[in-house]
Amino acid sequence: DTIGENLDRAARSHPDRDALVECATGRRWTYRQLVEDVDALALGLLDLGIDRGDRVGIWAPNCAEWTLTQYATAKIGAVLVTVNPAYRSHELEYVLNQAGIRLLVAAERFRTSDYAAMIEEVRPRCAELERVVLIGSGGWDGLLATGRQADPAALAERQTALAPDDPINIQYTSGTTGFPKGATLSHHNILNNGYFVGELCGYTEQDRICIPVPFYHCFGMVMGNLAATSHGACAVIPAPAFDPAATLAAVAAESCTSLYGVPTMFIAELAVPDFDSYDLSSLRTGIMAGSPCPVEVMKQVIERMGMTEVSICYGMTETSPVSTQTRADDSIERRVSTVGRVGPHLEVKVVDPATGRTVPRGEPGELCTRGYSVMLGYWGEPDKTAEAVDAARWMHTGDLAVMDRDGYLSITGRIKDMVIRGGENLYPREIEEFLHTHPDVLDVQVIGVPDAKYGEELMAWVRMREGAEPLTAEAVRAYCEGRLARFKIPRYVHVVEEFPMTVTGKIRKVEMRETAVRLLA
Ligand code: ATP
Ligand code: MG
Repeated sequence: DTIGENLDRAARSHPDRDALVECATGRRWTYRQLVEDVDALALGLLDLGIDRGDRVGIWAPNCAEWTLTQYATAKIGAVLVTVNPAYRSHELEYVLNQAGIRLLVAAERFRTSDYAAMIEEVRPRCAELERVVLIGSGGWDGLLATGRQADPAALAERQTALAPDDPINIQYTSGTTGFPKGATLSHHNILNNGYFVGELCGYTEQDRICIPVPFYHCFGMVMGNLAATSHGACAVIPAPAFDPAATLAAVAAESCTSLYGVPTMFIAELAVPDFDSYDLSSLRTGIMAGSPCPVEVMKQVIERMGMTEVSICYGMTETSPVSTQTRADDSIERRVSTVGRVGPHLEVKVVDPATGRTVPRGEPGELCTRGYSVMLGYWGEPDKTAEAVDAARWMHTGDLAVMDRDGYLSITGRIKDMVIRGGENLYPREIEEFLHTHPDVLDVQVIGVPDAKYGEELMAWVRMREGAEPLTAEAVRAYCEGRLARFKIPRYVHVVEEFPMTVTGKIRKVEMRETAVRLLA
């Protein structure tokens, strides 16, 4: 199937069920209405002369038009390029040119960002950009109106010409470790991934999925939107961008059965002052992914949010994204300490990065994944593709993992984040887990900083709980003494309000390390 065929099938089997709800405006679509609007938009795009394979950009926070654009471009075989809502003009310019975007669909503005002005600013330097359609403007309405008048045969004809292996999407990685790379993905890549993720969550047309994670990233558009529609479930958009209270309110108002987030989002939701006043009793499951989840947070999500079947997913943009997932019947212990087992129809192995040989179970190494989910390649960067995907189509993830006897994987960090102190490999994750047990600590991240004697030293960045005294290095040492090996005790402690983050909610350790070097200078 292509993504369009899959959506049409959902609309035929349950036309009157909810497909999409936008809480900020109260707008809602049944499956029949969703397909009607998607088809109108698709026909409008055909009328503009958008060909199969043409790049169409979308630059907007989460909104219903985003979803419509996602499905309309898939229906006509255009390659949707998802542009990060936090980009400023120079980053926008890079993406427009790097992906060769012909048509850009964009919000007029978002918060303090005047998208329309930034687009006008870069437009003279973007030769391939022919047209801009602003959401909510006459341009957008006109496109839909044209589509509603058009002969639907044009769309049917285009749809039959498409192949599941066509590129359909360019998604940029989060840019956690450097400059974002554009992973090029096919219908086959992402539709299958959304479907299997939804299957392991047990989705049916009864489910209502609250999606506070950004659509521009695979977590929102694949694990959210595609998992929903491929199972006939409903996608609920709580707010244009993450807002912990609005998320809880959306779950309560829309009786959501599933809630998504990266760990920092769940931490923020659990810390909402009147948390107990929200009725979250409809929640059954959800997905936590994107970065390591502290055990304590996982326990609270299960106990206080009632997400008893919550699963942990591990993946990356380059693999559509999910590679491993915990199952609903996995023990809580497994769900707090592992990222589950390999997903259906995928393979994983853990190798010694130096030799490429598979390491014994229980030993750390680089995680490699293979199967339907591996991207077609990085857009326009064949050298980077060749570094990441080897000749046998194994994706080298850059993540360190350990596989236990039963095939459960634990992610122990990124190869780039590992700290080598005096020849000893230290995994920040382990130290972070321990510091999380300190009652005054809300959240903590550990990085390596250059050190003349040991090569690297550990520095902990700590966010304090409300009302708690800032932690000092001495206090941390006293707390760790006797419970954590000496060489794992952070030498430096830095108290902060927030960690530097990517828009996808990941902590940018690269930036922390740069700041740390300045702090210590
Ligand atoms: P970039 O590749 O640009 O540096 P990024 O790797 O953060 O950014 P994404 O593709 O959004 O971009 O994220 C994939 C990465 O997120 C994985 O390689 C892994 O490091 C991390 N990750 C994803 N899920 C988990 C998880 N459940 N536990 C731990 N880490 C995870
Ligand atoms: Mg990456």
